[in-house]
Amino acid sequence: MNTAATALRVLIIEDSDDDAVLLLRELKWARFDPQWQQVQTADELEKALQSQPWDVVLSDYKLSHFSAPAALDLLKQSGQDIPFIVVSGTVGEATAVALMRAGACDYVMKDNLSRLGEAVRREIRDAQDRREHQQAQTDLERTCELLQLAIEGSGIGLWNWHIPSGAMWINDQCLHLLGYGGHPHPPTTIQDWQQAIHPQDRPRYDESLAAHVAGRCPTHDCEIRLRHRQGYWVWVLNRGRVVEWDADGQPLRVSGTLTDITERKQAEEERHQAAAQILHNSLHDALTGLPNRTFLKQRLELALQRSRRYPQAQFAVLFLDLDHFKVINDSLGHLAGDAILVTVAHTLQAMVRASDMAARLGGDEFVLLLEDIASLQEVKAMAERLLAELQQPFMVQGRKVFLNASLGIVTSLAHYQDASEPLRDADIAMYRAKARGRGCFVIFDASMRQQVLDRLQLEQDLRQAIDHQELVLYYQPILRLATGQICGFEVLVRWHHPQRGLLLPVEFIPIAEETGLIASLDRWVLDKGLQQLATWQRHYPNFAHLTLSFNVSSQDLWRDDLIPHLQALFAQSALSPCCLNLEIPESMLIQNIQAMALQLQQLRDLGLSLTIDDFGTGYSSLSYLHQLPVSALKIDRTFVSTMEAHGPSANIVETLITLSNRLGLEAVAEGVETQAQNQHLKHLGCELAQGHWFTHPLPAAAAERWLMAS
Ligand code: C2E
Ligand code: CA
Ligand code: CA
Repeated sequence: MNTAATALRVLIIEDSDDDAVLLLRELKWARFDPQWQQVQTADELEKALQSQPWDVVLSDYKLSHFSAPAALDLLKQSGQDIPFIVVSGTVGEATAVALMRAGACDYVMKDNLSRLGEAVRREIRDAQDRREHQQAQTDLERTCELLQLAIEGSGIGLWNWHIPSGAMWINDQCLHLLGYGGHPHPPTTIQDWQQAIHPQDRPRYDESLAAHVAGRCPTHDCEIRLRHRQGYWVWVLNRGRVVEWDADGQPLRVSGTLTDITERKQAEEERHQAAAQILHNSLHDALTGLPNRTFLKQRLELALQRSRRYPQAQFAVLFLDLDHFKVINDSLGHLAGDAILVTVAHTLQAMVRASDMAARLGGDEFVLLLEDIASLQEVKAMAERLLAELQQPFMVQGRKVFLNASLGIVTSLAHYQDASEPLRDADIAMYRAKARGRGCFVIFDASMRQQVLDRLQLEQDLRQAIDHQELVLYYQPILRLATGQICGFEVLVRWHHPQRGLLLPVEFIPIAEETGLIASLDRWVLDKGLQQLATWQRHYPNFAHLTLSFNVSSQDLWRDDLIPHLQALFAQSALSPCCLNLEIPESMLIQNIQAMALQLQQLRDLGLSLTIDDFGTGYSSLSYLHQLPVSALKIDRTFVSTMEAHGPSANIVETLITLSNRLGLEAVAEGVETQAQNQHLKHLGCELAQGHWFTHPLPAAAAERWLMAS
């Protein structure tokens, strides 16, 4: 193999030129290309070491003015790492060992120079390795320095845990983070360290560490709170890894970092709070702060699921609606109304257990969800307490306000499918409570749902009743008590329902009023009744003075086209307006009395007459009565029917008759059923009367026969 010779800078310490030549020849044979200098004294060696770098020093052991040990000393002093090989003929074994100890790398006997090339080559290689190692060491130190600087700059804490002893080394950053910067007794054990962890975070920390140590996780990595020496919590990201194992493969040392993430956590917390606020708002009523319908439905859904899974987990829904809240709101103003709603909300919330829910659906509607109820009795007791509590007077804007509520109750026994069903049924039961006179509770039963469906059907049917000619008019004579003569009829509507037969007004007039159908219904009654009157007047001219009394609802009275319609009616027919009497229920007079007086006056101006109906049951203020352009008061049936000779109703009837006389009005008694009542009324001076004693309301043909016979 003819490889190129290796350049070699060789310093030869030798006082024999022949030996030096021999060495050089040997190196050349070993395929070195030596560049060389020969020195013989310490001085010369020093100068040579300073003059240039050398790859190797070959030194005789003993020179006349110098020696290998002295040369080694000098080399050491110069701080240079140059392989030093002793080449000598005189070195004994003990000397050789001493030389090696002093720093010589090798020795070669002059009588065995063939080893020289190999020795030089190896030493050069070793020196090269040493230099590289040295460089690597320097680089490492430098890197460590840089890393240290970086760590200090970034504030990252470092820790190192020796597992068997529990000793914990932590750097300044760590100490600083926890308030132990410069403290004489910083935490030094794993126990100190772990005690600083927030109790809530400890299980997570333990789990993460255990998982890593057991080899289930590549790193131990978790976010925890550590207690600062001053007592507050610092959020840190704690990362660690096992870095050393013992001979049995058990973890020995864990090292890691600690990063302060408090700011990030705070920002996260703020975002979290903002999101939570949005969520809260979407589930709560802004006025009272109670859960809203959406929230309630979610809770109901859960309660339903629970009651399906655990049949003993029953719940109840109490649907609460304040009675006459609109009146309070209108009379005291919306601010007072709001204040009342807030007070009611507080009352409800105070009454339910933490596991229950009080919600506001809107307006004056509230719902209580009571969970895990033991018996219906318990729910009833709660309803009673609730009503009693709400009946306590409330102070609102310095005023005492009396409230009442109606309650509808359902229990989960009915096996509902979804949350809207118990709410719907509780609502139905609540309406039933209102119908029963308010201020009470009603427990839902399935027949009520059928009644609601029936009612909806009836509403549907009523829309077609007029077109289908299903309505009929009945006429009840009104007599003048003094003479026993008929002076007119009250017109009363009936409905021939195709499936249900003859229906009385009580079954459909309220529906007509709620749906707004009442206006067209009454218009039809008026037209039809007046047609009938015109026919009778044509056929029986001696009954030309007969009047017809029509019942009006409040919606009729305020319609703009009522007066034009009546004008047109009288213009088209031969009827005189004085044949027409309108009966205005007293309950309508609690509305704006001034406006009412004006409206009634316009009707009166048409030439017709007006009667106040159901008199004695309403709340009309007597002081206004004389301002109203009416001609008669119709005493309500309830007083007449309970009128005994000297009972309280008798007094009322007497008072009402006296009142109407004083006001110059006629008194009409309705619901006269007995001769005694008839006599008594006559005796009290009541002018007019109607009732079963004379006759029931009659269809037109029968009324006509009755008229003929009278
Ligand atoms: P109301 O104006 O008080 O009519 C008198 C009611 O007493 C009628 O009931 C009549 O049949 C009943 N009645 C008459 N005599 C006696 C009696 O001796 N004893 C008893 N217990 N009752 C007697 P009806 O026809 O069922 O009407 C009920 C209510 O429906 C009426 O009460 C009236 O407020 C309303 N109504 C009837 N027809 C109409 C109508 O065409 N339009 C409007 N808006 N309401 C009507
Ligand atoms: Ca009437
Ligand atoms: Ca009446």
